[in-house]
Amino acid sequence: MNLAVDKMSIFAVSKRKIKTGGMMFNKTKKMFVTGFMVLLFIFSSVLVAEAVEKKYLIVIDPAHGGEESGVKINDKLGEKDVTLAIALTLQKELTQNKNFEAVLTRDSDKAVSLEDRKKDIIKIKPDIMISIHVNAGFGKSAAGFEIYYPGFKNLEKQKKQTKSSTKDVKNKYLNDSVRLAQIIQKNLDTLFPRKSRGIREANQTLLEGLSVPSLVVEIGFTTNPEEKKKLVSPNTQSDIAKALAKSIISFF
Ligand SMILES: [Zn+2]
Repeated sequence: MNLAVDKMSIFAVSKRKIKTGGMMFNKTKKMFVTGFMVLLFIFSSVLVAEAVEKKYLIVIDPAHGGEESGVKINDKLGEKDVTLAIALTLQKELTQNKNFEAVLTRDSDKAVSLEDRKKDIIKIKPDIMISIHVNAGFGKSAAGFEIYYPGFKNLEKQKKQTKSSTKDVKNKYLNDSVRLAQIIQKNLDTLFPRKSRGIREANQTLLEGLSVPSLVVEIGFTTNPEEKKKLVSPNTQSDIAKALAKSIISFF
């Protein structure tokens, strides 16, 4: 009896041992699975957060400013005032979209040199840079808008200066600039019907050597009486800004 009990208890003990071992194995497995799930959750939350927080950074450059007023529009307004008004509205329009952040090279009527603007753009490293001008000249009949992108000549110059591995990246900036120009052309056409004077290769100092998709947009001719009226109208300025914002948002 005693022996039997002993045998039974030995059996019971070894059974318990096995059982405990199994439980421990289960526990470890559970802990491992739980840990893995927690890590997976943290990792995916970080990914989601990153996806949500990715903001496109746009630099808007209202041309001229301060002493340098650009082309004269009327006794009160110069090109610098119209470009600033459009730029400020464009910034407001873009930042209403949570995926966009917009920085201006000047947000008031002050002189900023081309070199300083360029330095700022290089430092900020935006996803897009857009410089806003107003046109003049070629008689009273010239009208509409022109869009300039950093040209192939500029690209060739950069290719000579840089290693071949960066060539593809530079090509991408150029392709992106042209693609954005095409979208802007389409959207500005609703404001200046059939008045696109084309997408042109730039000879613009500001664009030279910039490693970001960048454009200079010359909007409207102050020398054209009809367009002058449009340009001084806050409604048209706002419509231009909205067309540019729409273009930039649809570009991404
Ligand atoms: Zn200008």
